[in-house]
Amino acid sequence: MTLQEIIDQSESIVFFGGAGVSTESGIPDFRSVDGLYHQKYEWPPETILSRSFFDANPEEFYRFYREKMLPLEAEPNAAHRKLAELEKAGKLKAIVTQNIDGLHQKAGSQRVLELHGSVWRNRCMHCGRSYGPEFIRDCKEPVPRCECGGIIKPDVVLYEEGLDEDVLSESVHFIRTADTMIVAGTSLTVYPAAGLLRYFRGRQLVLINRDATPMDGKADLVLHEKVGQVLSGIKVENKTAE
Ligand code: ZN
Repeated sequence: MTLQEIIDQSESIVFFGGAGVSTESGIPDFRSVDGLYHQKYEWPPETILSRSFFDANPEEFYRFYREKMLPLEAEPNAAHRKLAELEKAGKLKAIVTQNIDGLHQKAGSQRVLELHGSVWRNRCMHCGRSYGPEFIRDCKEPVPRCECGGIIKPDVVLYEEGLDEDVLSESVHFIRTADTMIVAGTSLTVYPAAGLLRYFRGRQLVLINRDATPMDGKADLVLHEKVGQVLSGIKVENKTAE
């Protein structure tokens, strides 16, 4: 079956996306070879983006974070837009994403489960007050602080931190009840992606990723292509139109 046929025959799709969904919007995958690893910081990104580093060295964390993690002007690409369309048509029930860029919401998607949080939300660690990402970006201080003096932390899951239990269990619910699961833009080697996949018991598992993944052999359809390119070719039938 082609992806178009699978989507036509599905009634409840769950989409699971990784960094590859956003690379076509110009957001680098910091695990990929031409990503951030080979750039100009003293520490690798996974050290800078860890909780102990944030606590010990917030200035250096924010120097990196402001430069690399706040692409607030990035626009949704064809993949984000098609998924929003599929949700509107009643086909897609949820997007589970490892990305923190908020591009699915920007494209109009409603149910987006952000496993790793979002750069669009930030909170004072002392009083809990919320701040938008522009405040973090435009703040003159090296470390953004709340009115109360507390340090503001992005609502992003850092290395060494656990995932939000509610987001995780809601993700499991949608994966468990989906008839089709589309996994895209992830190498499926990083926690929790591979673990979540085993809750799927629907009919069709589709993998879209530039490179091969360890799950290719288990999928019903494997496409080694760019996510936006693949999804832009999908036609969405409007259920209400007769
Ligand atoms: Zn505060």
